Amino acid sequence: MTLSESASVSYFIADLHLAENRPDITACFLSFLKHQAPEADKLFILGDLFEYWVGDDDDNPFVLKIAEALKALSNNTEIFFIQGNRDFLLGKRYALKCGMTLLDDVEKITLYDKELVILHGDTLCTRDEGYQAFRKKSRSWWWQAIVKNLPLALRKRIAENYRKQSADATAMKSQDIMDVTQEEVETTLVNNQCQLMIHGHTHRPNVHTFKANNKEYTRVVLGDWYEQGAWLKFTPQGFELLSEPFQR
Ligand code: MN
Repeated sequence: MTLSESASVSYFIADLHLAENRPDITACFLSFLKHQAPEADKLFILGDLFEYWVGDDDDNPFVLKIAEALKALSNNTEIFFIQGNRDFLLGKRYALKCGMTLLDDVEKITLYDKELVILHGDTLCTRDEGYQAFRKKSRSWWWQAIVKNLPLALRKRIAENYRKQSADATAMKSQDIMDVTQEEVETTLVNNQCQLMIHGHTHRPNVHTFKANNKEYTRVVLGDWYEQGAWLKFTPQGFELLSEPFQR
């Protein structure tokens, strides 16, 4: 009898932007949870799992279906979640339904003897001052207290309006503003004493390597799910950005 080795595979995903009006993304994600993710011992969701999130009290059938699928996976795969700029109101109540653990905005983890820093990535885009100002406000206790007390229907209307405004604003901003700044990347790596970083948010999947202070650093950017499924497979041997087309 041969004993199979323990899994030693982790997956990282981000920027799925799941929404009811995108059944193709949902189908691809559910297929990923059923076919690829079970081989992993850990799944890290680095933000923007949902297109928007108005609060854990929004128990609509769509989000319950996603929770059920994640919960089923969580029996054998540990699931971790970092909030994105779209779903930063996703909290403990929904995370519990999904069987996933909420992590801080920026987390240093050790995976198969490697130390790495993981985050959504919006905090790295420091040139987008308008967004950073909103981010600061929307993470304050008073802003969240006010918003969470608004009726659910009103929160949904605000989220819809905000998305439209945000899409217009994004179209006006230069590509440069929407990307990370190297300075912030280096600061985050140095502060966390890590040489490897994984993030999403910019929708520019890539592996960047660079030298600073005589050290080699690597920054892995996860892909979004607008036109395909995209994930990072991380093993003790290395890592690989993978993607899979939507089923027709
Ligand atoms: Mn984002």
